Amino acid sequence: MSELINSSLRELSAALAAKKVSAVELAALFLDRIERLNPGLNAFIALDRDKTLAQAQAADETRRVGAGAPAISPLCGIPLAHKDIFCTRGWRTSCGSKMLENFVAPYDAHVVEKLAGAGMVMLGKLNMDEFAMGSSNESSYFGPVKNPWDISCVPGGSSGGSAAAIAARLTPAATGTDTGGSIRQPAALCGLTGLKPTYGAVSRYGMIAFASSLDQAGPMAKSAEDCALLLNAMAGFDARDSTSLERPAEDYTRDLDQPAALQGLRIGLPREFFGAGMDEDVRAAVEAALAEYRKLGATTVEVQLPNSGLSVPAYYVIAPAEASSNLSRFDGVRYGYRAPDYADLAEMYSRSRAQGFGAEVKRRILIGTYVLSHGYYDAYYLQAQKIRRLIAADFKAAFQQCDVIMGPTSPSVAFAFGAKSADPVQMYLSDIYTISTNLAGLPGMSLPCGFGRNNMPVGLQIIGNLFDEARMLNVAHKYQQVTDWHTRMPEGLK
Ligand code: GLN
Repeated sequence: MSELINSSLRELSAALAAKKVSAVELAALFLDRIERLNPGLNAFIALDRDKTLAQAQAADETRRVGAGAPAISPLCGIPLAHKDIFCTRGWRTSCGSKMLENFVAPYDAHVVEKLAGAGMVMLGKLNMDEFAMGSSNESSYFGPVKNPWDISCVPGGSSGGSAAAIAARLTPAATGTDTGGSIRQPAALCGLTGLKPTYGAVSRYGMIAFASSLDQAGPMAKSAEDCALLLNAMAGFDARDSTSLERPAEDYTRDLDQPAALQGLRIGLPREFFGAGMDEDVRAAVEAALAEYRKLGATTVEVQLPNSGLSVPAYYVIAPAEASSNLSRFDGVRYGYRAPDYADLAEMYSRSRAQGFGAEVKRRILIGTYVLSHGYYDAYYLQAQKIRRLIAADFKAAFQQCDVIMGPTSPSVAFAFGAKSADPVQMYLSDIYTISTNLAGLPGMSLPCGFGRNNMPVGLQIIGNLFDEARMLNVAHKYQQVTDWHTRMPEGLK
């Protein structure tokens, strides 16, 4: 039974279908592990054993009643956990903030609804950087998450709880969100596979907004195959999100079993991603992965993304601008934290916000308000939007020459707590390879490709053209069929 903690979603699905294990037993297996190991990791910040087991019981019932019926999702009965940015009815949804410390969502996010509809069993809610702002999970009001590979190191952020929980095998899969790299960077730092879909492919309904033109939900798991199965259930049009894309449903697993699909694949290597700034241990692992791809029949071609150096500065104008607007709803009036003492309405607003938000969130609100203010709008916000367009055009040109782009996900392996938290710019540079993808709306993923300094995992990034998730997942899967990095788990957590 305990070997199931390392199983793929397909294996879990087969075990459930063959009645080798029940959904209740599976949920209990992971809940027991969470109870034992989470105190040392701080990945889960909300648990409710009774609710989880009730959901598992319902999944067992669905499988029993519908045995053999095609309508049963392969995911039925498989446990997962949600990043605490997703509204979950009847569960606290904190977004990692004191502001929402006591907020119980009255409805489910689209993603939560879809995965529950497929019969997945929710184990609990996962820690994250406050309002998804961060790259290390050190900005959570609920304390930092530890990296299971080395608890003196960060797991990455902002979906650090999701990454740590999967790496420690506290859950087989999790949801994450990626505004500038928050699925891919923690996946890289914790040795996992994570996918940020094309903007609009997954509904943002019920996902607490950070920067709405960049935010996108996606799956995090051990392998590309697992991510494909999860994306099948998550993606699709939703009228409640005005930027949700109306496209026919896709089967993201459709290419996985095709043999030799990498013959003729053209991999673009952006010169800008392989210059200075990347640590040598990361470079070595990424180069080795590219050599593996060549062996699989792919060819590599140098491409250029000349404006990619402007992605971090443009992002840190656009994302805070949108955040300052989105976070204005937290005013102590309707829901969320309200300061206990105030003289009048204005003071009630200001004290509630001053006490309810942490330092990084305040920094973003200040920057965002500044760049949108009269006199600075043209100088900063408008310029950043123009750069955004140029970055998208660079990718469009690059994809004339290649099918997918590859490079590092993060310039370094997981760093120690405190190493970057005193210097916001150093922290912001953690996402130097991931941010341009969000600015262009493109899908991106990270998969494990080896180990670097201190035996910490390294991630390979794959960037695809718009709507090319199925191909990316296949490209990742083929690599995972000939390597075993994605099956490794941290020593000492058995
Ligand atoms: N690290 C980036 C930031 O702090 C990206 C965060 C994210 O993708 N949610 O904004």
